[in-house]
Amino acid sequence: MLRQPTLEIPPTGGLPLVWRDFLPASTTTLASRLAGFIGVDEVSITCSGTAALVIALHTLITQSVDTARREVVVPAFTCPLVAMAIVHCGLDVVLCDVQPNHFDFDHARLAKLCSNRTLAVIPTHLGGRLADVDAAMMIASSVGAWTIEDAAQSLGARHRDGIAAGLIGDIGLFSMAAGKGLTLYEGGALVTRHAALRASMRDIAAKIAPRRWRWELRRCIELLGYTVLYHPRRLHLPYGRPLRQALRRGDVDRAAGDVFPAKIPLHSVGTWRQNLGARAALRLPAHIDRLRKQAEARLPMLREIKGLQVLDDGLMHDPGLHDSVLHEPVMHDPRAHVLDERALRDVRPAQGTWPVMIVLLPDRTTRDAVLAALWPAGVGVSCLFAHALPDYASLRCSITSNITSDITNCDTQNARDFAARSMTISNSHWLDDATFTRILDTLRAACERLSSKQPLPPSSR
Ligand SMILES: *Cc1c(COP(=O)(O)O)cnc(C)c1O
Repeated sequence: MLRQPTLEIPPTGGLPLVWRDFLPASTTTLASRLAGFIGVDEVSITCSGTAALVIALHTLITQSVDTARREVVVPAFTCPLVAMAIVHCGLDVVLCDVQPNHFDFDHARLAKLCSNRTLAVIPTHLGGRLADVDAAMMIASSVGAWTIEDAAQSLGARHRDGIAAGLIGDIGLFSMAAGKGLTLYEGGALVTRHAALRASMRDIAAKIAPRRWRWELRRCIELLGYTVLYHPRRLHLPYGRPLRQALRRGDVDRAAGDVFPAKIPLHSVGTWRQNLGARAALRLPAHIDRLRKQAEARLPMLREIKGLQVLDDGLMHDPGLHDSVLHEPVMHDPRAHVLDERALRDVRPAQGTWPVMIVLLPDRTTRDAVLAALWPAGVGVSCLFAHALPDYASLRCSITSNITSDITNCDTQNARDFAARSMTISNSHWLDDATFTRILDTLRAACERLSSKQPLPPSSR
């Protein structure tokens, strides 16, 4: 089972670099190309998505007159680097459980967790699927807290009225790490609608993330490595082999790519890498379209499998939302006007991006059986994150020591359930129909095996 496959499909639909990207300076900078693509005046390039979050949080600390605001609320199922960035800034991580069968905030709980101690909430898009940033922002602004929109995995996705992911929150962040679409091997981007925040963010970035040539040299070499090795015939070297070794050891954290150095690198991004990114970014819109078409063709086949849930861009159903949120007197907040303005525009359906397709299996045992068969097989099956945040041994002390006494913070049952039942199917353009059929067959067999094992409900006997 753990034999080396002949081809190694990347776990996400990353944008490959081509040698043309190495030609001398492009006429447009990466920052302005991204700004045009997203539809915003200005984009700041950072050395990672995590660094972008650190810069954003430091900016909000300096902008807040109220120094008692030390809490940052995050979904209990998100990238562990988000928690690390919050702890790095000396702030407290507050975990909010997610909705059943989704990674987005349970907004009723979010409303309970937000207070005059809240500095920011971080609604998070995962795998190109969109979270409801409006709902999170209403709750945040009702207590005077900021909203940071984590679009690390969703550059190019659009909310339901055509606004780019990252642009609804007070600050939006993106990642350009390897595998997250457009990449500088490690990189990130920050956007904000507020001119004052923008200026402050620039100052803080210059102060805490200065030029560090050792880091830049290392990243240049890594980016060259990516260019050569990001291909199904070579990807077993940096990805497949270490993955299978980790799985053999039972090291799920490492297999999922969730093991990070304790220290967050903070530095600027050199012009050589930015130029490369600017050239590659030219191909990004076509790349995103191509993956969307591929997903549109494959999603119906996944939906046909009984017992399998597929995450989509449909209107999200959060039954708690109406009762607890919409009755809050939030419209007095000065930032609420943004929501009003947006309500007047045409309502266009949300259009996420498709680096992966996220599916939910009926239970953990079935999910684990499918992962055991497909994760090591080089077919691009993986999971978003190994665990819900409370279940990372490496994070446990830093999160819980920062958690307020409120016991509801630790109630993250839906997040744990999502972590236990979800998996991702790569939407890489290298994943061919035959391989996708193999994935479908495995999923179907696992779901059928489950339903045949379970006794029939009394009513149907
Ligand atoms: C990857 C990721 C980050 C951090 O981005 P890096 O560029 O890897 O530092 C933050 N949030 C989410 C949801 C992510 O997936």
